[in-house]
Amino acid sequence: MRIPFNKPYMTGGEIANILQAHANRQLAGDGEFTRRCCRWLEERTGSARALLTHSCTAALEMAAILADFQPGDEIIMPSFTFVSTANAFVLRGGVPVFVDIRPDTLNIDENLIEAAITARTRAITVVHYAGVACEMNAIMALAGRHGLLVIEDAAQGLMSDYRGRPLGSIGHLGAISFHETKNVISGEGGALLINRPELIARAEIVREKGTNRSRFLRGEIDKYTWEDIGSSYLPSELIAAFLWAQMGDADGITRRRLDLWQSYHAALQAQEEAGRMRRPVIPSGCRHNAHMYYLLLRNETARAAFIARLGQRGVGAVSHYVPLHDSTMGRRCARAHGDMMHTVQAANRLVRLPLWLGLEEHMNEVLEQVGLALGQA
Ligand SMILES: *Cc1c(COP(=O)(O)O)cnc(C)c1O
Repeated sequence: MRIPFNKPYMTGGEIANILQAHANRQLAGDGEFTRRCCRWLEERTGSARALLTHSCTAALEMAAILADFQPGDEIIMPSFTFVSTANAFVLRGGVPVFVDIRPDTLNIDENLIEAAITARTRAITVVHYAGVACEMNAIMALAGRHGLLVIEDAAQGLMSDYRGRPLGSIGHLGAISFHETKNVISGEGGALLINRPELIARAEIVREKGTNRSRFLRGEIDKYTWEDIGSSYLPSELIAAFLWAQMGDADGITRRRLDLWQSYHAALQAQEEAGRMRRPVIPSGCRHNAHMYYLLLRNETARAAFIARLGQRGVGAVSHYVPLHDSTMGRRCARAHGDMMHTVQAANRLVRLPLWLGLEEHMNEVLEQVGLALGQA
């Protein structure tokens, strides 16, 4: 595509940082760059502890271990999400129970959660779609009443907040992604935010192959041993060096993305009023990070025509999730509670438009092509 859907943004500082890690002969994880990235995350989110991981998927897997999932335990989550939200718990024998999303934000419908709770329910995993917060006050209150753990899949949510609280820092655990399709990136990468101090010690062990090596490295013990289950979840310093450059530019990245998002939003208002599609909804109290600009077209046919037309003009636009409840694994290992009407509608009607730094110079053309394609869809 001449104007692709996504193009990873480089701040310009990444290579210098990698050279620095190289010069330091510090290649394994938890060196100086990793420490800086973790501290930055803790300062920015207010989380008690941030641990870098290979990916958001790895952070979710760690969360499932820390939640002590037993085979048959249930976890309530949306079906309109990425596979890792569910897979992390299925790996521990957990059973995802899907509830429908809200038609406005496409986030889990907080009013449908309570009816899906059973004697086996242990946790709720929320997904902040497009970096727009779920209704966390209601969800945390509900979880408190039922003694459930809340895990935030904040893969798309860095630099967003809900009533002033950064996403990923509100539930008991939060997972962030630095995949190259996100706003702040390291190619592959992620972090686990631990908001309950009593989970920190075990999280460090799980991340270090089930050993207390983190304590050893801090000089707290004189040798380290096998203490728990775990795996290798920490990224190399080379990844953290790259990520540190991105974190230094996170405010600028967010500002520029918000400008692009706003250009779409303003330019498409009239088309929405004409009934051609629906634009994203940002509830009051949510400050978002412009992770995504999407449209909901009339139906699947209109969306296919729209994507094809833009593609002919060299503009990359893409659909999003195949609902998990409707996948091979979803049918085998999970179940849906209630109807999934809004989930199915979003899956069929949603299209994501290009949004990356550097798109500014193409924006007039993109807006013109989107307008023309909407007229024909
Ligand atoms: C991107 C994404 C993930 C996976 O992130 P990785 O870092 O690639 O593992 C999980 N959940 C959601 C909602 C995502 O958008």
